[in-house]
Amino acid sequence: MSEDNFKCGYIAIIGRPNVGKSTLLNHILGLKLSITSRKPQTTRHQILGVKNVDAGQFIFVDTPGIHSGGGRAINRYMNRAASSVIHDVDVILFLVQALKWTDEDQLVLNKLQQVEAPVVLLVNKVDKVAEKDQLLPFLAQMSEKYDFRNILPISAKQGDNLQELQDYILSLLPVNPPYFQGDEYTDRSVRFLVAEIIREKLVRELGKELPYQTTVEIEQYKDEEKLTRINALILVETKGQKVIVIGDKGARLKSIGTKARKDIEALIGRKVFLQLWVKVKAGWSDSEASLRSLGYDAD
Ligand code: GDP
Ligand code: MG
Repeated sequence: MSEDNFKCGYIAIIGRPNVGKSTLLNHILGLKLSITSRKPQTTRHQILGVKNVDAGQFIFVDTPGIHSGGGRAINRYMNRAASSVIHDVDVILFLVQALKWTDEDQLVLNKLQQVEAPVVLLVNKVDKVAEKDQLLPFLAQMSEKYDFRNILPISAKQGDNLQELQDYILSLLPVNPPYFQGDEYTDRSVRFLVAEIIREKLVRELGKELPYQTTVEIEQYKDEEKLTRINALILVETKGQKVIVIGDKGARLKSIGTKARKDIEALIGRKVFLQLWVKVKAGWSDSEASLRSLGYDAD
């Protein structure tokens, strides 16, 4: 591939919660991340990860909260952030679940009016569809909802169609030199993935008990000689939630920590010392000032 037609651009993955965005991103980025660079994390997940291939560079950016429509400060804030991001990317991947269309999906779709970037509809979790002949009518139904550039059935979990997806995204990216060199953003990707792993364990342990606005912040990520030391903060909104997350004599937090540590060790291929802290950030999702203090900068 000559340098003249190298592609590089920004890609947003959007969709309601639970539709498979993180699974897809993790799969595309691959888990073979090296951790050579140690750039501090300055802003909160603006860039989720950078994927380099011979012919191009994919830069995945976050669109926090585009899935939510509530009126609380965090939603208002995040919707603002998401709306501005959405007008500034080269490709938008909109995930839905096969055979399922909900009001939340519609809310996300509503935010795509007047975007200029091509929107590719990804119909995820096709592995769950037992009767494949139901898929075609669903795809037809989806194609009437919006002028999608393309509609691709995928399984983010099993990897079905993801290579084709990656090739297709590349074809949509503009010709540009790479914006990021080497491992410039790799460390952030690892931090992001670590936070996601912890959050996933929280969801597994707590299910519906987990408050929607729980966030995980990686406070320290340090490669030492024999192990990687990670301190992570689980931010909840009330004392009651803190008690639930910690569990009886700390049993729940311990179980979450053990499971997360094993996955993180598998991810980075090193021994990990993981410390989890649960902190009440009282009313944080209701105050724009405290949102800013957490690093959610306006536009
Ligand atoms: P997000 O909230 O959009 O980031 O969704 P996640 O990536 O966290 O996925 C939510 C749940 O759906 C997890 O339990 C995933 O394992 C599951 N999931 C994601 N993609 C697929 C898929 O292609 N097939 C199946 N069967 N499950 C999936
Ligand atoms: Mg996610």
